[in-house]
Amino acid sequence: MVQGIETWVAPGVRGLAPYQPGKPISDLERELGIQDIVKLASNENPLGYSPHVRDALSSALPDMARYPDGGGYALKSALARYYGLTQDQVTLGNGSNDVLDIVARTFLTHEQGAIVAQYAFAIYALTVQAMSAPLQVVPAIHYGHDLTAMAQAVQVSTRLIFIANPNNPTGSSVSQQELKVFMQELPPHVHVVLDEAYLEYSDEGGVDAATWIEQFPRLIICRTFSKAYGLAGLRIGYALSSAPVANLLNRVRQPFNVSSLGLVAAEAALADQDFVMRTRQLNQAGLQQLRAPLEGKGLQVLPSQGNFLCLDMGRPAQPVYEALLRQGVIVRPLGGYGMPNHLRVSVGLPEENARFLTALDHVLS
Ligand SMILES: *Cc1c(COP(=O)(O)O)cnc(C)c1O
Repeated sequence: MVQGIETWVAPGVRGLAPYQPGKPISDLERELGIQDIVKLASNENPLGYSPHVRDALSSALPDMARYPDGGGYALKSALARYYGLTQDQVTLGNGSNDVLDIVARTFLTHEQGAIVAQYAFAIYALTVQAMSAPLQVVPAIHYGHDLTAMAQAVQVSTRLIFIANPNNPTGSSVSQQELKVFMQELPPHVHVVLDEAYLEYSDEGGVDAATWIEQFPRLIICRTFSKAYGLAGLRIGYALSSAPVANLLNRVRQPFNVSSLGLVAAEAALADQDFVMRTRQLNQAGLQQLRAPLEGKGLQVLPSQGNFLCLDMGRPAQPVYEALLRQGVIVRPLGGYGMPNHLRVSVGLPEENARFLTALDHVLS
């Protein structure tokens, strides 16, 4: 027999299992032939996006024959102003997943590895493995990052530590005080990727980027327009870091990694903080709307600082997920995370949350 193609690929790629995204609405429509589907599976913003974004997109459309501004000047300036940083401290990405990948490609080799937490956002491990780089997974405590153990796990070969705060899919968070202590302990050969995709939803908010980067020059803060800003479909995220680190990341990224539409949309979205505020309020109400009835059903609901809840169903969750699909409700099973009894449900509009609760009642009875 001819040897399989896998023999010839990079060793890390051989064991790679693809990321399992939330099921698209169009898939379920096709499979079940039903309409009126509720998707609470990808932590998207149920309010959509700011009306200013729509205007900015319309005015940008005539220029689509042109390449985007590869330097992202206008958006980087806006972000720098917003955070009190300089433009040369910003790196733009095709979603923050692209930024995570750029960071991995900048620092990792088959000898230089990374540390992640058990149950952390799956993309970290994927991107490290795709580099064929050593990966250490540090056991979680209470489904959250054990920062003490992660600091202790550092080796001479460690180059990156990924921290999701708040974490997806668990909703767990570490306090800024804990984070500060952790940062102070690290040796100079380690950079920390602090992924704050959900900062707008969390009680503490994100770290003050300017202050933290000045105090900890090896900190790389990743943020995104996909969640609270509602631009997941346009793929735009960014890293804030020291200027020397940003310089390296910008050498590694693709020259036109962010689209023209992504650039203008993000700039307009950033300028509409009222929209973010409304999003945050809707989310807090939604978390309350969901939590009490779920706990009333005897389910264990993990504490969450995000726009989603992680539920322990007390039994295999995959059949529950599938039964919910048949009710037209898409949530996220977490078997791929080694959490076979858990489901993650994103906070939707009040009527969507109600649909989910009713469907779950139906499935569990
Ligand atoms: C959704 C999410 C992101 C954002 O990904 P994008 O590529 O910006 O859409 C990043 N980190 C975590 C933990 C997330 O859940």
